[in-house]
Amino acid sequence: SREIHLVRHFTGAVKPEYFTLAEVDLPEPAEGEVLVANEWLSVDPYMRPRMAGLKTYIDPFMPGKPMEGGAVGKVIKSRSGALKEGDYVMSMLGWREAYVAPAKGLMKVDANLLPAHAYLGIAGLTGLTAYAGLKRIIGLKEGETLWMSAGAGAVGSAGIQFAKAMGARVIATAGGKAKTDFCLEIGADAAIDYKDVPDLRKAIKEAAPEGVNAYFENVGGDHLVAALDVLNQFGRIAACGMISRYNDETPSPGPHNMTNIVTKSLMMRGFIVTEHFDLQGEFIKDLSSWMMSGKVKSRETVYEGIEKMPEAFTGLFTGANLGKMLVKV
Ligand code: NDP
Repeated sequence: SREIHLVRHFTGAVKPEYFTLAEVDLPEPAEGEVLVANEWLSVDPYMRPRMAGLKTYIDPFMPGKPMEGGAVGKVIKSRSGALKEGDYVMSMLGWREAYVAPAKGLMKVDANLLPAHAYLGIAGLTGLTAYAGLKRIIGLKEGETLWMSAGAGAVGSAGIQFAKAMGARVIATAGGKAKTDFCLEIGADAAIDYKDVPDLRKAIKEAAPEGVNAYFENVGGDHLVAALDVLNQFGRIAACGMISRYNDETPSPGPHNMTNIVTKSLMMRGFIVTEHFDLQGEFIKDLSSWMMSGKVKSRETVYEGIEKMPEAFTGLFTGANLGKMLVKV
């Protein structure tokens, strides 16, 4: 079986030579264990600091060891009463074609209810991230105007649709016309190509003449600066991610306009999806009804073959994905 190992910790741009494809022999499953063949692998921006050797809320990847990440696979051999051959399971044992692991650490998913890959995207942590950010961090209300950054990405495209289903007006930003078209197609009321406007704040103001009540932060940098300027009084920011900063080799200067937080009584709160698992039941209930009524659809960009993992991951930083970036093994 093949798996991807990190060659060394690095800062700066992601390059293919930092990864290597290793061939390993898997043991026979012991009592209580299962052999799983992964079918879908997730690549996510949060993996980037783990490659720099940084301990954040999660440990760094170790050179010479298989990397980790979300994966959905099929049980091929089982020596556990909890799982049978043919069952689908979700795990954090991604970046590899197959693995042997104790059944108790794996989460069984229903591949008849939803396609298996949806558990890595809209119905998985990606969807819950968008949901928790909107529901709990921002507390989005009907009739409010939301700005969703990285709107054509995984969290962004889920969030645009959820916010529309919650009755908000949504302005999206994304890089390139194909992406802004996609944001409109999934329901955004306005979409701005941030690469094609000389002044982001002016473009947002034109799209939201009555101002913005909430900003979903996926990008950081110039996007955050613009948000601090365009938010209305009592505006809220859900700080979900700041992907424009993850490859920085030196710390970047902070926004020059932070006094807006004081003068407009803004609220900015960071969050990590794993802190909000208590919302899971409510999330699945809302998501199923939104999906059944056709309000929410999932969209993926799929690369084929485990050897494409580094390219798929790198693509997150060059904007190669529409919707959730996945690799099909
Ligand atoms: P995406 O599918 O959104 O992929 C990343 C996208 O970011 C790219 O497609 C690209 O879109 C955009 N991007 C990349 N570099 C830049 C840049 N320099 N400036 C502006 N946009 C850029 O990934 P996810 O949906 O998985 O993640 C989105 C954000 O949410 C990330 O910041 C991530 O860290 C965060 N996150 C946080 C979680 C949490 O628990 N707090 C959980 C999951 C994700 P474009 O072509 O439009 O530029």
